[in-house]
Amino acid sequence: MKKEEEKYLRDVIDHFVEMYGFALTPYNRAYKTWFEHKLYGEIIIDFLKKLRVPANIRLKKCPTATIDKPHRVGTIHGINIKSPIPFYSNQFKSLRFEILIDPSQYEKFEIFICVLIHELAHLVLHSTHNKYRMSEVATDLFVMSFGLYEEYDYIMRRMRKTEGYITHEQALYAYHYIQLKRKNANASAFA
Ligand SMILES: [Zn+2]
Repeated sequence: MKKEEEKYLRDVIDHFVEMYGFALTPYNRAYKTWFEHKLYGEIIIDFLKKLRVPANIRLKKCPTATIDKPHRVGTIHGINIKSPIPFYSNQFKSLRFEILIDPSQYEKFEIFICVLIHELAHLVLHSTHNKYRMSEVATDLFVMSFGLYEEYDYIMRRMRKTEGYITHEQALYAYHYIQLKRKNANASAFA
């Protein structure tokens, strides 16, 4: 990986940690229990509460692949990419977003949670008008910064390479960088 690419990954993670106040601790472990009990709505509510984005979301289990996007496993409807509605506006509160996740992604928790949080990350990045909102790689880094770095390691080992998305090498670099940041944060907290 080139030095500039590594710098980009660090810059994006630093930006997300600062902007959204991520503690870089693992995500709420209750997510796994909620997943096992099919309480997907609880996960969505907890995530949105942490990010303070009051979105109205409906989750649908249905096929997501299309002819031009045959590898697509999830998608979100309702975001206007050209002019995103800010999360604090009244208009935003009246909107209903729809997240579609392919039935194949419900088999394993690690896979499901990464797909779901990735789609929610699109919503957060657009509604907060984040400068990295158009990047799929940055969207994946958001998910990792939120606390799903171990799950990314798990899925990256099983996934095929998809153009435009995070690579295994980038995810591994991000994983180590997040670990390092965590360690430094803990060290200064106890100094
Ligand atoms: Zn995406």
